[in-house]
Amino acid sequence: MNDPFDLRLSRRALLRHLAVAAGATAALPLPGRAALASSGGAPAGTASKAALQYQDQPRGTSACANCANFIAGEDARAPGHCIIVAGDISPRGWCLAYAGNG
Ligand code: SF4
Repeated sequence: MNDPFDLRLSRRALLRHLAVAAGATAALPLPGRAALASSGGAPAGTASKAALQYQDQPRGTSACANCANFIAGEDARAPGHCIIVAGDISPRGWCLAYAGNG
């Protein structure tokens, strides 16, 4: 049987954790918060396109749309995001961090 005092402590601990999480989100710089919101909650990457030799064209059959790191946009042709590379990412793009089957 649960002790009501333990439940109060648990609830207090949960509220404390929620407050910390809310504070961490508020502490994100505005571009970070915008990227998080536009990616449906998944954090967008921070690596530069240049560092990973990102290009707007696929490399053979390898493209962002079939990469495990891709966060799809609103539809199949819309730019999305990437959990590795910063900025808008074309579903037809490619970079050195490609992780897919193509
Ligand atoms: S190919 Fe590169 S830029 Fe495209 S989704 Fe994969 S890791 Fe991101």
